Amino acid sequence: MTEAETVAQKQDVAEKGKENGQKEGAPYRSMEGTLIKLRGVKKTYHRGSEAVKVLDGLDLDIPDGSYEALMGPSGSGKTTLLNLIAGLDRPSSGSVEVAGERLDSLGEGALAKWRSRTIGFIFQSYNLIPVLTALENVELPLLLTNLSSSERKKRAETALRVVGLEGRLSHYPKQLSGGQEQRVAIARALVNDPKLFVADEPTGDLDRQSADEILALLEKLNKEFKKTIVMVTHDPAAAERATIIRRLNKGMLE
Ligand code: ADP
Ligand code: MG
Repeated sequence: MTEAETVAQKQDVAEKGKENGQKEGAPYRSMEGTLIKLRGVKKTYHRGSEAVKVLDGLDLDIPDGSYEALMGPSGSGKTTLLNLIAGLDRPSSGSVEVAGERLDSLGEGALAKWRSRTIGFIFQSYNLIPVLTALENVELPLLLTNLSSSERKKRAETALRVVGLEGRLSHYPKQLSGGQEQRVAIARALVNDPKLFVADEPTGDLDRQSADEILALLEKLNKEFKKTIVMVTHDPAAAERATIIRRLNKGMLE
């Protein structure tokens, strides 16, 4: 990092501190065109007397609108890194800046609010609620908003149309295939219109054809809807669909 950058960063931190005293969650502009910026990020897990060093001083810049695949051996820290970017976990040290927020300086409540409006989560296991229909599952994140029930329904229907499931609104998860369940999960991630999608092995449980459908859908979110996507994957075919492939090894990005 150059001296000018270091000074700029210090000013950012100072400014952020001032803002925090005034209004919570106010955006500040330090990253033209960069959505995700990590500096010197370390993560060590402690279990009893044992310390597991997972990330060891990581720098990462991801531009707005990028579609990135994150690969690496099992246990190399891919999920850990994704969780730090998504504000689900905090670094042991270093800074994590996403969509104009310094996540390491937000309190739990502010972080939860930030997550719900900024991030769409897609997991390997679809995490749908079995007693709710596809439409009700997709509507769930909207229950935290002030939208009327008819507006919520309309938005959930739109999201399900985007993923090609307009014909399955009242189906329950167990009446859907794995690929369709994942599409419902993507609609649920999409319904709040977040800037950033994080996907952790989104095709890990799917056959090739369903996996390809999910990958085509992620590509559509990126190209048509201009969403930034960070996807952890083991699947070389999945990684190839992304614009950039990054590899994590021994706590560092190669
Ligand atoms: P990957 O997703 O690349 O397989 P993870 O990020 O899940 O890797 O895990 C990286 C390492 O950190 C592993 O050795 C794992 O056992 C350890 N780890 C992950 N989460 C925790 C936790 N909550 N507590 C302790 N160790 C953890
Ligand atoms: Mg993982």
